Amino acid sequence: MIKAYFNRIFYLKTLGVIGGMSWESTSVYYRLLNQGVRDRLGGLYSARMLLYSVEFNEIVELQHCGNWPQAAAILAQAAQSLEKAGAQGLLIATNTMHKVADQVSVDISMPLLHIADSTAKAIVAQGYQQVGLLATAFTMEDDFYSGHIRSHYDIDVIVPDARDRGVVHNVIYNQLCQGVVEDESRQQYLRIIDSLSARGAQAVILGCTEIDLLISQADSDMPLFDSTALHAADAVDWMLGEGG
Ligand code: GLU
Repeated sequence: MIKAYFNRIFYLKTLGVIGGMSWESTSVYYRLLNQGVRDRLGGLYSARMLLYSVEFNEIVELQHCGNWPQAAAILAQAAQSLEKAGAQGLLIATNTMHKVADQVSVDISMPLLHIADSTAKAIVAQGYQQVGLLATAFTMEDDFYSGHIRSHYDIDVIVPDARDRGVVHNVIYNQLCQGVVEDESRQQYLRIIDSLSARGAQAVILGCTEIDLLISQADSDMPLFDSTALHAADAVDWMLGEGG
């Protein structure tokens, strides 16, 4: 017998995703976005989305030589392509490239679902006021992320010392973005989380979309805020018409 799947019709907004930074984390987003819609609506429902996956090596070279305007131009062009193709909202599937979020969204009319908002809202809901941040050096050392969280949500952000920022950064680009997950790196991250706790952090932001490949809440007693999962969950709310 043919089962009637079509008894409930929900309209889902179309999400435009700029991904590939790295594709290791974009594949996690893809699963979380679809899973989130199915968890909410059930049956065969899935996320309506367009994915523009960039060539990551090019982006990383531009980041590391400080050519942010050119990196922003590549992402802005991707955003415009997504909007022309029918996207109604934009998700940039990386924390680091939110450094150029303003330039990326300047020539589009759809809203940008900012990853720092998704993360900070979850922290506020738990009542934490001082949190540690693990991310790329660009995200930890520039103010675009911590400053956003501080000024919009009144949350104080502390980062590891210079040596440990280097450890966190190198593990992201030399291992996680290349699909390499090593226990030794996990131990280093857990040591760094402990040192943030000793300096007063009440919780830690996993502020790079690949870190959830290495550590999860089960590894640490510190409350962890996974930016990938929180961003994807916010996007699911938005697709269902419940978020900003
Ligand atoms: N995915 C990482 C992040 O969330 C780093 C890769 C990159 O975009 O440079 O920041």
